[in-house]
Amino acid sequence: MQYISTRGQAAPQSFSEILLGGLAPDGGLYLPAEYPQVSGAELDAWRKLSYADLALEILRKFATDIPDDDLKALTRKTYTAEVYRNARDGEDAGKITPLRVLEEKNGAALILQALSNGPTLAFKDMAMQLLGNLFEYTLAKQDAELNIFGATSGDTGSAAEYAMRGKKGIRVFMLSPHRKMSAFQTAQMFSLQDPNIFNIAIEGVFDDCQDMVKAVSNDLEFKNRQKIGTVNSINWARVVAQVVYYFRGYLAATESNDQKVSFTVPSGNFGNICAGHIARMMGLPIDKLIAATNENDVLDEFFRSGVYRVRKPAETYHTTSPSMDISKASNFERFIHDLLDGDRERVRALFRKVETHGGFDLSGKPGSDGNEFGKVAQFGFLSGKSLHRDRLETIRDVQAKYGVMIDTHTADGVKVAREHLTPGVPMIVLETALPAKFNETIQEALGRDAERPAGFDRIEELPQRFEVMAADVEQVKKFISRHTGL
Ligand SMILES: *Cc1c(COP(=O)(O)O)cnc(C)c1O
Repeated sequence: MQYISTRGQAAPQSFSEILLGGLAPDGGLYLPAEYPQVSGAELDAWRKLSYADLALEILRKFATDIPDDDLKALTRKTYTAEVYRNARDGEDAGKITPLRVLEEKNGAALILQALSNGPTLAFKDMAMQLLGNLFEYTLAKQDAELNIFGATSGDTGSAAEYAMRGKKGIRVFMLSPHRKMSAFQTAQMFSLQDPNIFNIAIEGVFDDCQDMVKAVSNDLEFKNRQKIGTVNSINWARVVAQVVYYFRGYLAATESNDQKVSFTVPSGNFGNICAGHIARMMGLPIDKLIAATNENDVLDEFFRSGVYRVRKPAETYHTTSPSMDISKASNFERFIHDLLDGDRERVRALFRKVETHGGFDLSGKPGSDGNEFGKVAQFGFLSGKSLHRDRLETIRDVQAKYGVMIDTHTADGVKVAREHLTPGVPMIVLETALPAKFNETIQEALGRDAERPAGFDRIEELPQRFEVMAADVEQVKKFISRHTGL
């Protein structure tokens, strides 16, 4: 299987060749040259598989340059009940992404799929844990090392650190805005004592951190010498790892392949729901894919109007579902590529227009850039938006009606899912984090503390290891080279 860039000006690459990289050299995102197809017979056979073995079946269609036995060892090491041990009462950790039916009316079941039972209590563990093992495996083969450098406002950084801790050949340098993360998230990251993990608290806001990452990425000499890599959500292996739980959710919610299921996905950078799109393109009988946004409604605007309009950092709202606070959706280009039927010249032109004019318009109206919005329905996409008061109301309502405590991002999902229920089609809402991560808002909604899985009781009291630094690129570069010795 070869991978091509959405902008069509980069040489085709294998899975292993794009594993450690980010953007393609032409600025595009990698996609497989064609989507592998899944037959009804395969789906039937997959109903019986464990999560790890289902992951193997799907990954082997994409990672064709990794031997089967190695992939099997990697998926079995990643998807175990020990890693996903934070399953809640009534859930089976061995199922990795267990379903919980909230209600069933006229055959329109409303179901939660737990994706946050991993080490950092957010769905990013699902892909990042696999990435950690894939990186270690590939680096060992090449006798190489990798220094991951990134910026986080919370979930991504901790998922990356817990996936890479103790891994041979890998160091993580993670910037975060000093004193701007929740106490829980700060404790999760800063309490790690592994010598290959470096937390750098920057005196500034998240955008300052991100600007510093960009500045380092643009310094090619430094980047190459220091073997700098990233693990952001455009990483192709992360997207593929996420495809697996759409299959799992579908198979667990149905008895035969004649049935359809819809998914509602709390969305920010379009990484999670992009995996759902790929599952659907592979032939999984998904009816609707519904993008739920918060106040940062770039995606909802597109799926309602065909207009994609990115926001300036200053126009981005800081909300109580902070992991969805984005100004543009970095994986969106993959869907636009498919919507445009693989016309890579047009993809290139449209995303150049994003840089020069802040967006594009596919509504088909006079003066627009195309009329492909009319085709969006064929891909199953719908959307909706949820605000702070919706989040609070939904958390209260789900607690009162079903006795289940959900986090703020999942609440955005449930709110939007309820607007799109269809008789006869189960609706799965992806649970993207556990409420313990966002206790401040749970307090506001319910007047009490969020439940915490065992082992997280007093993490705020653990000793913390981090460096405080000014928002100064040179200082960070010096810190990195001092610790890599490169
Ligand atoms: C990252 C994240 C999201 C958004 O996922 P995307 O792949 O960026 O769309 C939603 N909820 C939580 C809890 C997250 O951590």
